[in-house]
Amino acid sequence: MKICVLPGDGIGPEVVGCAISVLKAVTDQLEFAEGGIGQAAYLECGSYLPDETVDLMRSCDSTLFGAVTTPDAPDYKSPVLRFRKELDLYANVRPVKTFARTTPAGPVDVVIVRENSEGMYTQNEVFDDSGVTTMRRVTRRACERIVTFAIDYALKNGRGTICCVHKANVLRASDGLFLSVFKEKMASEGKALRAEDQLVDSAGMHLVTDPGRFDMIVTLNLYGDVLSDVAAGVAGGLGFAPSGNIGDKHSVFEPAHGSAPDIAGKGRANPTAAILSGAMMLRHLGMPAHAQEIERTIASVYQSGHLTYDLGGRHGSESFTECVVRSLKSRESL
Ligand code: NAD
Repeated sequence: MKICVLPGDGIGPEVVGCAISVLKAVTDQLEFAEGGIGQAAYLECGSYLPDETVDLMRSCDSTLFGAVTTPDAPDYKSPVLRFRKELDLYANVRPVKTFARTTPAGPVDVVIVRENSEGMYTQNEVFDDSGVTTMRRVTRRACERIVTFAIDYALKNGRGTICCVHKANVLRASDGLFLSVFKEKMASEGKALRAEDQLVDSAGMHLVTDPGRFDMIVTLNLYGDVLSDVAAGVAGGLGFAPSGNIGDKHSVFEPAHGSAPDIAGKGRANPTAAILSGAMMLRHLGMPAHAQEIERTIASVYQSGHLTYDLGGRHGSESFTECVVRSLKSRESL
């Protein structure tokens, strides 16, 4: 299988390099082809997402992406939003799980499914004399396909409860549409699952005080972006949050964090989120046993006391990855 690799900016190349080392340790069935994105691509060819990169993404079985830095340029359009749109990656799956420490409120194991194609991310902002109006779009089609995706994911991955997170008490028409589609779909396609709903402000509070109450969340674009970072913070930091952008034809896997310029080039980034994004990619490509092997190994490396810098440990990106690769290679099952 052919994987498009987009290292990007900041810590992107560092953590993606670690993920590739781990993928190579579990399988020889992957072939990698690198593409340009972000500032390096802009300096080379004047585009933050060259057309050749999008063509490469389309031609590969999946893409592994690091992160990009947002420049201070008024005409900048996010390459991430562009590839999500061009490849119709309408579902953003963000599992967050505690590997190395528990919070005072207990461990986290939640999958956040975020609508990835509209909401506040249409980049449609209209200026006038008094300020700016941002267009926020919620369509029945997008609500239906994300809720169907979440139900399907729950049924295939052994999740029992889906909580719809919204703000339908204020955004009565738009979030109200999302909530009513959720209720309709759960009553038909999701009958085997438990349905709950919560206002986004209260869900944020509960993710911090009682994260164990959440099994799966389905939510709108901006809420999902914010809540997944909240959940990651509770689970240990952004270095623990992998993600997948998934559509009917294409998929892109990336750590949920950004390019972290404050630690870039220092070898201190936690590569766990990127490695786990690689595991998600393997599962999506029909290699669940290899994915599980990576996840189990990461958990056992942490449990045996190998902690990364963000957890107060002594492991940088490379030495943590070496522990994971060594542990994978010593397992007979591979
Ligand atoms: P960030 O996620 O890059 O970093 C937030 C904080 O978390 C920083 O203190 C950082 O050091 C820490 N952190 C992030 N990843 C880490 C890791 N793997 N290990 C240890 N610590 C980690 O968010 P930010 O600082 O708000 O944004 C930095 C840049 O990244 C901005 O230009 C932003 O626009 C961009 N960004 C890109 C993406 C993407 O490419 N998908 C996503 C979010 C932010």
